[in-house]
Amino acid sequence: MKKRWLIGNWKMHGDLESNKALVETIRGALPKPEDDIAVAVCPAFPYLFQLAELTQGTEIGVGAQNVSDHLQGAYTGETSPLMVRELGGRFAIIGHSERRQYQGENDGLMGRKALAAIDAGLIPVICVGETAEERDSGRTHEVLARQLDAAFGYIRTAHDEIILAYEPRWAIGTGIAATPEIIQGEHEFLRQRIAIRDREFAARLPIVYGGSVKASNAASIFAMPDVDGGLIGSAALNAQEFIAIYRELAASQPKP
Ligand code: PEP
Repeated sequence: MKKRWLIGNWKMHGDLESNKALVETIRGALPKPEDDIAVAVCPAFPYLFQLAELTQGTEIGVGAQNVSDHLQGAYTGETSPLMVRELGGRFAIIGHSERRQYQGENDGLMGRKALAAIDAGLIPVICVGETAEERDSGRTHEVLARQLDAAFGYIRTAHDEIILAYEPRWAIGTGIAATPEIIQGEHEFLRQRIAIRDREFAARLPIVYGGSVKASNAASIFAMPDVDGGLIGSAALNAQEFIAIYRELAASQPKP
């Protein structure tokens, strides 16, 4: 059975006290080791170590929201994926739309970061997605193909463990998720595009959806055959909401 993923992106929120309360509530409610569902939380950098300690011995993984595209060197203010790994991180979100929007990150940098993350032993969660304007002008597939090809121009499909996240920019933080039909259509497109490079890899690649997922819409999204889980932003900051989303994922049809 294919593993399904639930990844919380805590963005630039939290502090020592609220992080502890949040993760302890989540930890108490999920998951059972035999489940085919993996759960991870991605706090801001300063709290990685705290979360790694709090989740030690549990089924909850920890990831970073970003990493440098270098492993070491004179890159002031950057964080190496090796450092994330040493602090107990197993994942790194790469190319999140907020980094594209506010930090000017581009497709090439996303590819280099994904490769650096893999080289450091992390699983990159590679984010792709179109803006509202790109969708409205009928360019969604062109944009997704460009982003995907840029990332896969760096990483090697055959032996790398990666997670792909479809995150339409117009759905992130807006409270308005893409419809299940749109999500399924774009996930299918992404999988087919990767299959051109490596059919077997494309079939086993987890593709998760992100963009205003909440307990009330999770079931219909997770029911889609090409949706292998969710990347959850705002709702991941609310323990009960995150737990409810987890339950919807667990109740959805496992992916063969
Ligand atoms: C995100 O930041 O990756 C995200 C999906 O945010 P939200 O769930 O708040 O739309």
